[in-house]
Amino acid sequence: MADTYEFLNCPACGTPMKKVFLEKQGFIIDVCLDGCGGIWFDNRELSKVDEKTEDISDLSAAYAGKTFHRVEREQDRDCPVCHKKMVKNCASAKQEITVDECYQCGGKFFDYNELEILRNQYDSDEDRIADIKKIAKDSVKMEVILNKLMHKDDMI
Ligand SMILES: [Zn+2]
Ligand SMILES: [Zn+2]
Repeated sequence: MADTYEFLNCPACGTPMKKVFLEKQGFIIDVCLDGCGGIWFDNRELSKVDEKTEDISDLSAAYAGKTFHRVEREQDRDCPVCHKKMVKNCASAKQEITVDECYQCGGKFFDYNELEILRNQYDSDEDRIADIKKIAKDSVKMEVILNKLMHKDDMI
């Protein structure tokens, strides 16, 4: 989805978000600089900033010297673009952080600091893929165990 040029209201705190141009990536993100510090990514933008090696110094510069108020992270939030209720999903295989995702437009909202946590989870794309593969293997094992349990029930 292309960048939206209207100002979006932060899905977490309602404050109008600011546009931050990430020069290295060549696109604009919406950041709640006057409120909670949360970040809105349009569909597919996230994959260009989620690695530690990807330069987001423009975002760090925008954040510099600001303090942000806390928001309730568990509450349901509406997409700032489509105004549909978003779904909470884990941002990576490690499942350390939950982000709000809009299934209609593919946009994602990160609370303050969550992007930083995501970026520091893996040293490289290879590590990330290896981890996802490991989890997939574990869930196959899980299925085998569950199947066994179900058959036990059949016998009783
Ligand atoms: Zn906010
Ligand atoms: Zn949406």
